[in-house]
Amino acid sequence: MNLKIIPELSSPSVCMRDPQRVEEIIKAMQKAGTSTIQVISDFDMTLTRFAYNGKRCPPSHNILNNSRLTSEECKAQLKDLLNTYHPIEIDSKQTAEEKLPLMVEWWTKAHTLLVQQRIRKDLLQDVVKESDAMLRELYQLFFDHLHEHSIPLLIFSAGLGDVLEEVILIYNKRERGLIHIYNKREGALLNTGHFQELKSRHNVLLVGDSLGDLTMADGVHSMENILQIGFLNDKVEERKTSYLNAYDIVLVKDETMEVPNALLLHLTSVLGHCPVER
Ligand SMILES: [Mg+2]
Repeated sequence: MNLKIIPELSSPSVCMRDPQRVEEIIKAMQKAGTSTIQVISDFDMTLTRFAYNGKRCPPSHNILNNSRLTSEECKAQLKDLLNTYHPIEIDSKQTAEEKLPLMVEWWTKAHTLLVQQRIRKDLLQDVVKESDAMLRELYQLFFDHLHEHSIPLLIFSAGLGDVLEEVILIYNKRERGLIHIYNKREGALLNTGHFQELKSRHNVLLVGDSLGDLTMADGVHSMENILQIGFLNDKVEERKTSYLNAYDIVLVKDETMEVPNALLLHLTSVLGHCPVER
């Protein structure tokens, strides 16, 4: 196999530290077959767009924070939290491990405030529609492809599960089936309940947009191969080296699902995992 057979990987937005390693991982995953693959993806700025027509798209927690359903008092309290915790989030002197408990503290406090607003679930849909949140271009192909091949998708989000579900439901008309939403506030990945079915899937396609997203697969049971795709949405010059060192494939300012789709298509191609012996 040669990476050239996936033409999307030759796009100028695609960067790889070690293309040969990428080739080897793809080959191994393709050989293992569709039934061994699971997709783990971050939600905000990964499945959703970072910007549209030059304007930033909101992360899912901002949809509610800035909506007409949230009181001015609550908005002010959320702003205070942002002013306290955001500087920690972007502080390059602290490690991801040092930041995580504080980030969890932030999400938990914000979540508590929003829950106290007692927002009616039936109004959520309108608020999501009124917001500028958008899934990435070609997202439908992504969901369709996973559905067609019964590949489970585990979505990690720090946002409110209900809001996230609305975003997915509005765009993805299919029944959710194999899509699970996992909240980052809940700690380590559990090996119970509906995570059981993921246990037999030892090959992971991970998609994220921050370096912290790389820990999403930490709970995967006896992992065999992992292919990590990272969207580098912003501050490209500053972050490019660290992204290239962390992710197998880095997508620079790419607002589409084109590359994850192409990889999925390749990984699930019948020719790939059943070579004809002659
Ligand atoms: Mg994100």
